[in-house]
Amino acid sequence: MKVKRAEKYGFCSGVRIADMKVKRFAAAGNTGAILGQVVHNERVVQEMEDLGVRTVEVLEAVSEPTIVFSAHGVPPSYHEQASALGLKILDTTCKFVYDIHWESKRALQAGHHLVFIGDPQHREVIGYTNDLDPASYHIVSTLHDVDAVDWSQFERVMVFYQTTLNAEDYETVVKAIEARGHDVRRGDTICYATKENQDAARALAMDASVGAIVVVGGKKSANTKHLWDICKDAKPSFLVQGADDLHAEWFHGVDTVGLTAGASTPDYVIDEVEEKLISFGERGQAAE
Ligand code: SF4
Repeated sequence: MKVKRAEKYGFCSGVRIADMKVKRFAAAGNTGAILGQVVHNERVVQEMEDLGVRTVEVLEAVSEPTIVFSAHGVPPSYHEQASALGLKILDTTCKFVYDIHWESKRALQAGHHLVFIGDPQHREVIGYTNDLDPASYHIVSTLHDVDAVDWSQFERVMVFYQTTLNAEDYETVVKAIEARGHDVRRGDTICYATKENQDAARALAMDASVGAIVVVGGKKSANTKHLWDICKDAKPSFLVQGADDLHAEWFHGVDTVGLTAGASTPDYVIDEVEEKLISFGERGQAAE
């Protein structure tokens, strides 16, 4: 049995850099705590903990000398709060997230009402909005949310997307704001890492030589689930957290298995899955 990997899969550049920064920090003998999961993957969280960098949910819970801010970013005030608590900061916020922090700040200063298309509970969106005057912004994701606001009261509106969203999915929502508001502009801050993984999964799903697909990712990872949805519409597809979840009987009669992974899946987990898939093929041949 052969394994064909998607053209793009796994960690995006932002998470890759954050992961590297934390590992270098730990390798230098430092200990710290990460505010919120570095990525939604239990193995990565455990790996960080083993390196001496545990996960905490609030700044006050940090007893180590350093707090690590993850790639999702934090509200600017968290930097001041951490300093006030005597903590050093290792900031691994992704540059695309910082772009939105800076652009939204500029837009606010220029008199725009801010709109964030995204999930109000997502840490990235909390980072943008937590410190703002509630009257200065709205977070919307549905037409129902758009209907709940009188857009004509704002002279100027600037729309930002949570980085990992697919802008096309929210086109009708943004068009509805544009139809009802004055001078509505869009910030060009979408990160294409997620879309690239999805496009590559779609290509794998359409590949006639691929008989089944394995999608690797964490239980809580929304983008992994999305990849699985794309794949399973086209052919038998299996969502696993790692090599231990694979079953040989899933691949009976399959010559080539497609392999992709969510943005929170580290390379070594993908390698383990690939090795096990190849071993299924070898065992099958030996039995013939
Ligand atoms: S903005 Fe894009 S590159 Fe940065 S962490 Fe998020 S998905 Fe990764």
